[in-house]
Amino acid sequence: MKIAIMACRKLIGKCSGSGCFDAYNESKDAFEVYNDDKPVLSSFFYCSGCKTTLGESENWEHKMAQLKRKGVDTIHISLCIKVECDNYSKHEKILKNYGFNVVHGTHKQKEKSKIRL
Ligand code: SF4
Repeated sequence: MKIAIMACRKLIGKCSGSGCFDAYNESKDAFEVYNDDKPVLSSFFYCSGCKTTLGESENWEHKMAQLKRKGVDTIHISLCIKVECDNYSKHEKILKNYGFNVVHGTHKQKEKSKIRL
């Protein structure tokens, strides 16, 4: 089993992803479910985007195909998507349509602020 984390593009310039990686490395929060059978974390990538975040030269199909080729079967939708995005269920559906299992969340929110994830 291989997993990946999908994060919100709105946080590209602010977040290093360290909260998600800490949770994975310490097998806590949403990663507790794996118990002693810890999967390989193969990718940390950003969502398919929205009006304010989509750039040029995007190739979502390529990204999805790459994950499939690498054997990723499960994707964690990160905390930042839950906090920032109005289209959470759309993202979930997109990933499921590609055949991925979806797990909700990565690490717990430390405080209410939208910046400190
Ligand atoms: S708000 Fe939603 S669609 Fe926009 S970048 Fe964040 S996760 Fe992606």
